[in-house]
Amino acid sequence: MGADASPLPERAGDHWTNQWLPARCALCTDPCMRVVCAPCEGALVRVPEESCPRCKLPSSNAEVCGRCLRYPPRWDRLATTFMYEFPLDRLVVRAKHGRYWGVFEWAAAITHEDFSFASSTLIPVPPSPERLLERGYDQAALFSKALGRRFSSRVDESAIIRIRETGTQATRNWVDRRKNVKHAFAATRSLAGEAVVLVDDVLTTGATLNECARAAIDAGASSVNACVIARVNPPRARSRIQKFNRAVA
Ligand SMILES: [Zn+2]
Ligand SMILES: [Zn+2]
Repeated sequence: MGADASPLPERAGDHWTNQWLPARCALCTDPCMRVVCAPCEGALVRVPEESCPRCKLPSSNAEVCGRCLRYPPRWDRLATTFMYEFPLDRLVVRAKHGRYWGVFEWAAAITHEDFSFASSTLIPVPPSPERLLERGYDQAALFSKALGRRFSSRVDESAIIRIRETGTQATRNWVDRRKNVKHAFAATRSLAGEAVVLVDDVLTTGATLNECARAAIDAGASSVNACVIARVNPPRARSRIQKFNRAVA
């Protein structure tokens, strides 16, 4: 996610700060009534059509992939539209800093309903206090609310909280991320019988999401699914992929 040194035009921010139309595409600045114009949206890298329902990485016949069979994540299904690649990555980083709030509405509007959102409780992955302090916006909560509006789902922002300070995940390797967040979350109420959807902006290793899923299951959730705007493509080298698998296990 890193530095915000993208070529995205500042002008695109007018879409959300200026009441005057015409609005502009957040990526190419062409006049556009949507956050991202249709040509730009069409050019973004999507998750493959034939992908694993649990991790959304390529899988023949859209069956559960070998990685997820060997190291099953604690959530059942993952709903996501995009791979976390340029230029979407820049857009998400800017949305995090509050300049493109409309990104969350736009992402919710094109989220494919891989499972029933309407009958689920949407729970955002809690931000780390240092992150919240640093940028002042909770992107997982903003995306949860946008999904809640679209699917008329219940959103419970405080159902899962961080019970241990973990520091940033960004500078840690794939294995350390898993250790860093282990048992770092807990439910604040019983989730007995509830279908839970955990919501975050980006899935990197899945370590944080997996620990939140653990907390939801411990609180009695009847099912746990997950939804993110985009997922990171794991490193290719075999050893790194094995580490990634262990990290999400
Ligand atoms: Zn555009
Ligand atoms: Zn998978």
